[in-house]
Amino acid sequence: MFTCEASIVSFIKGKPWYYITCTECRRKMYKTNEGWSCGSHENLLEPKFMYVINI
Ligand SMILES: [Zn+2]
Repeated sequence: MFTCEASIVSFIKGKPWYYITCTECRRKMYKTNEGWSCGSHENLLEPKFMYVINI
């Protein structure tokens, strides 16, 4: 494990600060009528929100 120090120097206005990922495999998820799906995992109750950081 390591620690990384960083500073936010700019924001891209209008872009969300997060993206939605699968809790099982971290692929991008989308909403379906039954819940959330990543293509491999179906009908999950809730996704995981991850920060979007461009370095
Ligand atoms: Zn998945």
